[in-house]
Amino acid sequence: MESIEEEFVHSQYGQGYFADVDAIREQEYPLLNGTTYLDHAGTTLYAKSFIESFSGDMISNLFGNPHSMSVSSHLSTERTENLRLRVLEFFSASPDEFDVVFVANATAAIKLIAESFRDSDPRGFWYGYHVDSHTSVIGVRELAAMGCQCFDDTNVDTWISELGTAQSTFPKLFAFPAQSNMNGRRLPLQWSGQIRSAANEGENVFTLLDAASFLSTAPLDLGEASTAPDFTALSFYKIFGFPDLGALIVRKSTASVLERRKFFGGGTVDMVIASGAQWHAKKETSIHERLEDGTLPFHSVIALDAALQTHKRLYGSMSNISAHTGFLAQRLYDRLSALRHFNGTKVCRIYQSNYGNLALQGPIIAFNMKNSHGQWIPKSEVEKLATVRNIQLRSGSVCNPGGTAMSLGWAGQDLRRHYATGLRCGDDHDVLDGRPTGILRVSIGAMTNLKDIDSLTDFVDEFYVEKAPPLVPLSPQMDEKILVAPQFYVESLTIFPIKGCAAFKIPEGKRWEVKKEGLAWDREWYLVHQVTGFPLKQNEYPQMASIHPFLDMERGILRITCSPKATNGPFSLEIPLIWDARSTTVMSSPVRSSCRKGVPSVYDHSLCLRAYASPVVSAFFTEHLGVSCTLARFSPLDANLDMKPPSLASTWKNRFRRLATLESFSRADRIPRQNCQKYVLVSNEMSVLIVSRSSINCLNETIKANTKHTSGVSKAIGADLFKSNIVVAERVCQSAHAEHPYAEDHWSSIRIGQDQLLFDTLDPCQRCQMLCIDQLTGTQRNEILAALPKMRKVNGRIQFGRYATMSTEDGENVERNVPGSGTIMVGDVVLPSNQNN
Ligand SMILES: *Cc1c(COP(=O)(O)O)cnc(C)c1O
Repeated sequence: MESIEEEFVHSQYGQGYFADVDAIREQEYPLLNGTTYLDHAGTTLYAKSFIESFSGDMISNLFGNPHSMSVSSHLSTERTENLRLRVLEFFSASPDEFDVVFVANATAAIKLIAESFRDSDPRGFWYGYHVDSHTSVIGVRELAAMGCQCFDDTNVDTWISELGTAQSTFPKLFAFPAQSNMNGRRLPLQWSGQIRSAANEGENVFTLLDAASFLSTAPLDLGEASTAPDFTALSFYKIFGFPDLGALIVRKSTASVLERRKFFGGGTVDMVIASGAQWHAKKETSIHERLEDGTLPFHSVIALDAALQTHKRLYGSMSNISAHTGFLAQRLYDRLSALRHFNGTKVCRIYQSNYGNLALQGPIIAFNMKNSHGQWIPKSEVEKLATVRNIQLRSGSVCNPGGTAMSLGWAGQDLRRHYATGLRCGDDHDVLDGRPTGILRVSIGAMTNLKDIDSLTDFVDEFYVEKAPPLVPLSPQMDEKILVAPQFYVESLTIFPIKGCAAFKIPEGKRWEVKKEGLAWDREWYLVHQVTGFPLKQNEYPQMASIHPFLDMERGILRITCSPKATNGPFSLEIPLIWDARSTTVMSSPVRSSCRKGVPSVYDHSLCLRAYASPVVSAFFTEHLGVSCTLARFSPLDANLDMKPPSLASTWKNRFRRLATLESFSRADRIPRQNCQKYVLVSNEMSVLIVSRSSINCLNETIKANTKHTSGVSKAIGADLFKSNIVVAERVCQSAHAEHPYAEDHWSSIRIGQDQLLFDTLDPCQRCQMLCIDQLTGTQRNEILAALPKMRKVNGRIQFGRYATMSTEDGENVERNVPGSGTIMVGDVVLPSNQNN
């Protein structure tokens, strides 16, 4: 195998591949058509001919369990043993020096080492790991009874120079990644050799190389046994896209540390006495036999046959892949780092720079973006917009806490504080204290082509590079005194009785009750997953849009119908509005709805989500959506309560609201963790969403302008797409007075209708992907999100519409419950007050 230095010289596009990259793409990866897949560090993709060849193998051979004596069993044993050799060969490792242990994944390989070390000495072991390590490598420290240390590069060198002087005999393990899965940095592989030669005989120092990320796009050569790591962990799906299988490559001479592992499973022992004396005899033949618990994932191991063959046929060698991906990474780096805003400020902050030097840098780019004012752009927003353009990348701390914290400059105590205030791995808090909490990661694979690189840079250029200072302010300045004040009125009223399902339009001419927490019956019910208890979201189950709730107040029922074409099941379902606790069961699972960003806050234990117990109810929704779910409704915990819904609704929602204002933000960090079992992001649970007709018209104009040069004619978007409760329109005066789009940006409060209901306006609504789902057809309408950001981006977030709640000043008005007070209807006059009044 070629060395990394040699590859550097001919670092080139598709060099040594079986065919042109685009031809390989066309033939072997048809699923990538129309998609820009840049998450190869998550997993790379399998070739079509590999899967065909594997399935041919499966169909034409009878494979038995490798542990028995039959012919079919022999076949499996022979094939798996043969593949052990082929895997060693792939790494130029000599079978005299190394053995291969098949495990579930790289994490399982690391865990196996950790457990073996824990049991290898009564005192336990000492553990050192590099700060760029994957979470799975860091976790080993919890088992290290003799202590642990997190290293950066200079620490490692100092530690190595001091090796050989210590007298300690307990085992020491040093682990590091061959490549950071976060930013692609390649670490010095020579550390293993240096540690081996520096440690004296009695010192018992071992090295564990996490090669999982490195091996996606680089060759690993274990040919020189004396300098190779003692243990190498890897996942095959990261090399071949399939099978989901891992391996631990073990230096045979380390057997003595591994064989004291206490646990034994089927396959690893020669004899066991099950009762009476606790005696068992470990297998003595080979390391892998003693470490592979239970039946080998032998079909997966057999898949390696086709994987290795196809990979070699298509790409020739890992060195070719390294050169190809290195070339693309450098190109992407150059283009991203060249992007500048109109005022000359850089758009991308990239956390590594050695692209082009294959010994130091793999094809992964970790970055964040800034706007022209130097403010960070929220990563999750970028990820969402990228999805609209069919670009697949990763964001967050990408399972590399040390690397991310170092890049972003976060210290341990910052992170603890963030955790306390609700920050969790994988959530939506993008920027805290003016600094990003995570990174965007694009990673390149063997089959990535130039077009992918172009698509990504074009995307960044189109949406995030500010070409000129904004000519038009976000909305007309209201202080440029408008001669004729616009007259606003309620154009339509809508509620969503079941959250995420179709709207219920409040009929014209009907007065509708407004409660402190919003319009009556709005989001009273949820659809929840029967196993997890989580509310279903419409962007995950677009079919929810075809579930239509209808409030029949005369008969006191909620009638739910599904579009007939979409279901063979019962066409409609009726649920009494009167609350009957006996018909429901308590959901014990956590409830969390995270469309809106904010700090999660705890709500009282006396509130919980109750699911309807009837199997008819769950079958109705499960059949329609194809996911095991049922209808649920919020209620107090007291099972004896049998109240009429309006008063109940107002009781729980009021308490909910009070709690939310009390607990959220400032106090959240004082809430003990164990109380967080049930929490929701409450901000939009107790408000109404208002959008303006004039703003929608203005948006339609923009979309029309945008799509002029593209093919498909897009029909105008309607107000229902925004899932708002109140659409406010303006009466345009005869004097040809133009509309006032985005006037709502400046509203601080509005009064509506004969009852003069006062609403305080809250934050603008940050639009998420749900916006793209056409409520009539359940299909995606990507042009909307694509058009919105350009005109409606504030600090990188897309905004449209305003949230509002009943003003506390006027709350008494509603509480009195005077008949006829606290209602609104279509046609009511809307009187806004502006912020600067
Ligand atoms: C992916 C990865 C792992 C974990 O692999 P699993 O297959 O999830 O066990 C560990 N380390 C690095 C560097 C990785 O990239």
